Amino acid sequence: MSLIAENLLSIREKIETAAKTSLMNQGDVNLIAVSKTKPLEAVEEAYAAGQKVFGENKVQEALTKFRDLKDQHSDIEVHLIGPLQTNKAKEAVSLFDVIESVDRPKLVTALIKEMKKQDRWPDCFIQVNTGEEDQKAGVLPKELESLIDFSKEQGLPVIGLMCIPPVDEEAATHFSFLYELAKKHNLSCVSMGMSADFEKAIRFGATDVRVGSSIFGQRNKI
Ligand SMILES: *Cc1c(COP(=O)(O)O)cnc(C)c1O
Repeated sequence: MSLIAENLLSIREKIETAAKTSLMNQGDVNLIAVSKTKPLEAVEEAYAAGQKVFGENKVQEALTKFRDLKDQHSDIEVHLIGPLQTNKAKEAVSLFDVIESVDRPKLVTALIKEMKKQDRWPDCFIQVNTGEEDQKAGVLPKELESLIDFSKEQGLPVIGLMCIPPVDEEAATHFSFLYELAKKHNLSCVSMGMSADFEKAIRFGATDVRVGSSIFGQRNKI
């Protein structure tokens, strides 16, 4: 068995165990294998081991890796988990099955325009800057409600919320906060938790976890 296949097996076991002990009584947890910076061969290895859902944080890199691969394998699903510029909305809508980083009205408008044009409707998550960090993407919690309202008005298929907690704070606080926000707004999906804390995220109600380095190995710093 390849190392990636072994890692996937171990992560899936941990997910299952965490889901059983989840306070929030979640059903299935969706594992997003974050393949950013990793070569196509690594993605193919994961796919051969049964992994169908992948996450990328850059539009261009995702296109290079996944455009042909998705033509070959129609069951592959790719999530955009990084910031999206409005001028990349066209490519993003054409490639991604899920866009997790919607965070401002201007982006909603650009996405809707492309979705209508292409008649392609990727599910969307709204990214929330739960730590209110200046350098971080995501809508501020106090602006979330109006962004959800605007997205609905425009017809954006919003299914959930996503967050990346501050590195120097207890993640659990942010996980339970995001879960409560999703519940309050009747959104069924909550994307939170990475290699270091996905089990904790599941205990606090994550429906989608984004795991990179524990599957594919450490990334080189770039
Ligand atoms: C890179 C990345 C991940 C995966 O991080 P790991 O620590 O490698 O598991 C998850 N979510 C987002 C938004 C990322 O950019």
